[in-house]
Amino acid sequence: MNTIKEAARETPVRGEYDVIVCGGGLGGVAAATAAARTGAKTLLIERNSFLGGVATAGMCCSIFNCYYTGGQSRRLATGGIAVEVADAMADATGYGRKWHNHKGHIIYDIERGKLVLQELVEQAGAELLLQAWTSGAIVEDGGVRGVIVESKSGREAIRAKVVVDATGDADVAMFAGASLHTQEKGLHSLCFRLGNVDVDAFVNYFRQNPNQFPDYMDVDWTLNEALAQYDECGTFLFPHGGGMQMDAFKQAKASGELPETIGIQDTTDACQMHALRQTGIVHVITGFTHFNGLNAGTITRSIADGRRMAFAVTDVYRRHIPGFANAFIAGTAANLGVRTSRYLDGDFVFTADMMTSGARQPDAVGRFVGYDGVVKHKGENAWGMQVCHDDSSDLPYRCLLPREVDGLLMGAGRSISTDDPFRLRVMVHTMVVGQGAGTAAGVASQQGGSVSSLNIETVQAELRKQGVTV
Ligand SMILES: Cc1cc2nc3c(=O)[nH]c(=O)nc-3n(C[C@H](O)[C@H](O)[C@H](O)COP(=O)(O)OP(=O)(O)OC[C@H]3O[C@@H](n4cnc5c(N)ncnc54)[C@H](O)[C@@H]3O)c2cc1C
Repeated sequence: MNTIKEAARETPVRGEYDVIVCGGGLGGVAAATAAARTGAKTLLIERNSFLGGVATAGMCCSIFNCYYTGGQSRRLATGGIAVEVADAMADATGYGRKWHNHKGHIIYDIERGKLVLQELVEQAGAELLLQAWTSGAIVEDGGVRGVIVESKSGREAIRAKVVVDATGDADVAMFAGASLHTQEKGLHSLCFRLGNVDVDAFVNYFRQNPNQFPDYMDVDWTLNEALAQYDECGTFLFPHGGGMQMDAFKQAKASGELPETIGIQDTTDACQMHALRQTGIVHVITGFTHFNGLNAGTITRSIADGRRMAFAVTDVYRRHIPGFANAFIAGTAANLGVRTSRYLDGDFVFTADMMTSGARQPDAVGRFVGYDGVVKHKGENAWGMQVCHDDSSDLPYRCLLPREVDGLLMGAGRSISTDDPFRLRVMVHTMVVGQGAGTAAGVASQQGGSVSSLNIETVQAELRKQGVTV
């Protein structure tokens, strides 16, 4: 690679903390909140001007409801911050705790969601640093002891006893020299938001044409279950891949109105839609790009082509989908939605089998409900649906630990040490990972900063105080 040598420089130290969390997505929010609740002086650093990551900046606003076990058992198996966030999002969106009565995703108002997450962190006592990129790690005596940030204040160092990497892309681990894997062919989407949708008309179309709704596609539920949730909560999820099953999209594709691909975006008819009756807003996830999620040039092309795709797809909605005649694009996502990119190559590998076997772990720092992909829909190009297990599994502390450096923990579901980073990426799971990492970081900072020789019982006791079953 062609390189240049930069001049060595003195970097001012902005501050000192017990715990720094880099990345303010749902994982980072949970990590910072949990660390602060242990009493640690905590700083959360985020490159955007608000918290939430994919869940706000990525415009994906639907929490897959894997809080509850599947099958006949249906019981709430996840506790702690992940549940606090869903409850607070639902409160802010106007339907309170009614989501607990339903199997479907928890769909929320993104702008209110930004404030919900900010207040959660603030109330726990953590400090925030927004519009600041983490661009380096301070490594001393084999341990990460802070980070370098770039912001309007310039390039600064911030010291900490423990750092949690919740960037989702394992940026801090990469800067610190930890061994990592890269998902060479990820699956990414640029989401967008439509305003002025007559959501009742959209939903009523499926009441009258039930064969146009894809039962058991992407999610393990039916139109009747979706309608029951809409009637009680005012939220409606049209499942991912569902557009491909609708006659309107098939005809638009056959006539050439909707191209197969737009630049490097494909599957322009995949359309998952998250509809909110109260605001007339529908969020759309459609179109995919396929690369490792870390190439700045390809990220740029994905966003540029994704923006063109949003307008092309919206024209088709306006012409063919009931309720969308007067819809307009109220926004395209600030960040490309990256599902998986870089993740830890640790000594301990948390396998997909362990995630779905209901296994108990001696070093559990969280509990979650695993899921499998099961193909049940009969349509052309049908996708698997995510089916929740009827038992919960433990999250082992070991999968958060880099092999080479101390003082660093992974705090996002998709970047732990695993053989299947796609599985723990979803919102509930990343919050479980974040809370486990943040609590451990808080405890480690009080025990001298080593995350590799931590007293796990103390961490588990802290987690129980925070409402987590371990
Ligand atoms: C298109 C798409 C659709 C999805 N659909 C669903 C769904 O329907 N239901 C569901 O439950 N899950 C869904 N998921 C998965 C889920 O939304 C995300 O995986 C989850 O929100 C990720 O949260 P996170 O905190 O782990 O990572 P992220 O949300 O990626 O958070 C990482 C944060 O770190 C910040 N950051 C990154 N690098 C730096 C840096 N160097 N310095 C400072 N800040 C940095 C980012 O800005 C971001 O805020 C979807 C994901 C995508 C991409």
